[in-house]
Amino acid sequence: MASRLTKLWRRPVAAAAATVVVAGGCGTVLYSKSNKNLSHDVAAVPVRRDARGNITPPSFPAVRSRAEQLADLRRHDGQGGGETEYDLLIVGGGATGTGIALDAVTRGLKVALVERDDFSAGTSSKSTKLVHGGVRYLEKAVWNLDYPQLELVIEALRERRGFLNIAPHLSRSLPILLPLQSWLQAPYLWAGCKMYDLLAGSQGLESSYLVSRARAIESFPLLKRDNLVGALVYYDGQHNDSRMNVSLALTSSLFGATVLNHVEVTALDKDADGKICGAKVRDLMAGRGGDDGKPFTVRAKGVINATGPFTDAVERMDDPRRRQIVAPASGAHVMLPGNLCPKGMGILDAATSDGRVVFVLPWQGMTVAGTTDKACEVETEPVARQDDVDFILNEVSKLLAPESRLTRDHVLATWSGIRPLVRDPKAGNTESLVRSHLVTVSASGLLTCAGGKWTTYRQMAQDAVDEAISTFNLVPRSVALPDISGYGLPGSITNGTCKTLTTPVVGAHGYSTSLASQLMELHPIDADVAHHLATSYGDRAWAVLAFTSSSRGSTARLAPSFPFIEAELRHAARSELACTAADAISRRTRLAFLDVDAALHALPRVIDVLAEELQWGEARKQHEWTATLRFMRSMGLDEDRLGVTREEVVSGHVRARRGLAEQGEGESGGRSSGIESSPVPELESGALSRDAA
Ligand SMILES: Cc1cc2nc3c(=O)[nH]c(=O)nc-3n(C[C@H](O)[C@H](O)[C@H](O)COP(=O)(O)OP(=O)(O)OC[C@H]3O[C@@H](n4cnc5c(N)ncnc54)[C@H](O)[C@@H]3O)c2cc1C
Repeated sequence: MASRLTKLWRRPVAAAAATVVVAGGCGTVLYSKSNKNLSHDVAAVPVRRDARGNITPPSFPAVRSRAEQLADLRRHDGQGGGETEYDLLIVGGGATGTGIALDAVTRGLKVALVERDDFSAGTSSKSTKLVHGGVRYLEKAVWNLDYPQLELVIEALRERRGFLNIAPHLSRSLPILLPLQSWLQAPYLWAGCKMYDLLAGSQGLESSYLVSRARAIESFPLLKRDNLVGALVYYDGQHNDSRMNVSLALTSSLFGATVLNHVEVTALDKDADGKICGAKVRDLMAGRGGDDGKPFTVRAKGVINATGPFTDAVERMDDPRRRQIVAPASGAHVMLPGNLCPKGMGILDAATSDGRVVFVLPWQGMTVAGTTDKACEVETEPVARQDDVDFILNEVSKLLAPESRLTRDHVLATWSGIRPLVRDPKAGNTESLVRSHLVTVSASGLLTCAGGKWTTYRQMAQDAVDEAISTFNLVPRSVALPDISGYGLPGSITNGTCKTLTTPVVGAHGYSTSLASQLMELHPIDADVAHHLATSYGDRAWAVLAFTSSSRGSTARLAPSFPFIEAELRHAARSELACTAADAISRRTRLAFLDVDAALHALPRVIDVLAEELQWGEARKQHEWTATLRFMRSMGLDEDRLGVTREEVVSGHVRARRGLAEQGEGESGGRSSGIESSPVPELESGALSRDAA
């Protein structure tokens, strides 16, 4: 299975050596003692206790309501001079756009961001959830002696560490296993993994190591045992992509940016000299609690196009003849039961039948398996194709013991995302496209930031804001950022330079590994709920749980075997700018991604709770039902369920189809499924310890 990677490391040792030497030549830290301390035993802002030792929960500053932010946006029509003009208007609220908003506002710029759907509704909620340098990009770099590619790996490895530091509650270090079918593969793969560790230098996570056959099987009881001799384990990061994206938007807003979801840019405005000076925007929530829906003008010194796969559409608002710069490539994922990866370790398969890499990773108690990249058309809600789903099931099955073969019945949700690759004019296929990002400015002043990957969103944002400052003659200012920890500490004073590498996102300040037990100290909640809230909201879990004392039923689970509770919906509506049921069920909680059938069964209650919070009448509730079912098609809801009514679901006429996730808990909290496993053998004597590597 690891033959492709093995082939890589068979490249003459000179290739590896040369790569390392080149890396050293540009001042990269070749190897220093890795700072592996990712422990979060103590929060940056520890929880407070009163004289009797009881916890005093923090009291958080409120995120401005959507109505307030919309009014703010409307005020910036340029009619009242400079005061009614933003420095920057950012189009697109994915990882790139929200990253730019946070960078710009912390440099003292006056910022607005508009997103036509929800934050992360595009590609940024549909990733593989890895925060990684990319072992396969390293493969390319070494195999092709491609120095720019190597630089990208090094950049991403550096960003990986920063990412995990600023969002410790939403991200973690993840071990990934490479099974070995022959010890002959070991030296080559070991060298590759060690090079990966080495390139991360002081920003590394834990070191890679070799394990015996028995340890590999212990980590993956379902792993195919034929020819298995052992495995290599390396580390990358993993995160909760849409919650990270929403957190970036909320943090920007708390620091003073105007951020609006469900507001679309329909045209760019130009001044008498043909320079872009703002945009026409339209509130897509009009008639649904938004404004009147008429397009209005927003003025800004600079407009940034951060629309990912839709980059070219906005480019053509600037100039209809503009050449296409994005080569869209789709990647499909399937959600599988948790007992595939019961020990919190993933697998990488680099030897699939068509050469694409497949990841099988534990995530939120379940298992996500997916692959990229196929050239595709850009569309708003892509659906995972059945042949892609079958490909993933087949390839993952090949890794498993024969009795554990996967079928479509094991699939709990599917989705497809579109990667906004930057086109290389000389490249024949998407695989050979460079994953680098691009910051360009058109003659009329449209600044576009595209490409890259989730892991490097922060660097992309920094480059885009640097360019914006120079192109639009903006003046970064020292600002007093308010304290968002909830304990009324003094805020921090910035100096107009980029601060995002050290600016924790909302929820990070009070997060520690003790947070879940602290939540349980004050609230009668189950351990899995406490763990979920701590690792999804960080310190804002206190705000979520505040609803449980005021609203009846707020600790009720949305679906029996998932830790999502009703209070999260109230928090999503009041404090996280969720406007629709799809926002709440897929990008604030992740239920639709984890089990679309469970999401369908939770939908009546989800709509009822949101209706209470957002004052929806019957017509709006019906609209939400239809719209959410349409959205669920992109999460893999079966075609024959797209027309079901609320009454059919509530009355039990629509039975839980798969129900596999309802069958109990896996060993590490992973939800089980009925996938057959063989008994785990005793550890072999003489098993290689990790230090043996
Ligand atoms: C299958 C797959 C797996 C991936 N896995 C990983 C991974 O594991 N790790 C990693 O680092 N990277 C990964 N990536 C890459 C990463 O997800 C993307 O690079 C990143 O999410 C792109 O973010 P973005 O903000 O540029 O685009 P998007 O998230 O698509 O955001 C663009 C936004 O612009 C909005 N928009 C468009 N037009 C308008 C308009 N006119 N007005 C207002 N808003 C508009 C859209 O609604 C959209 O929300 C993966 C990509 C894919 C496809």
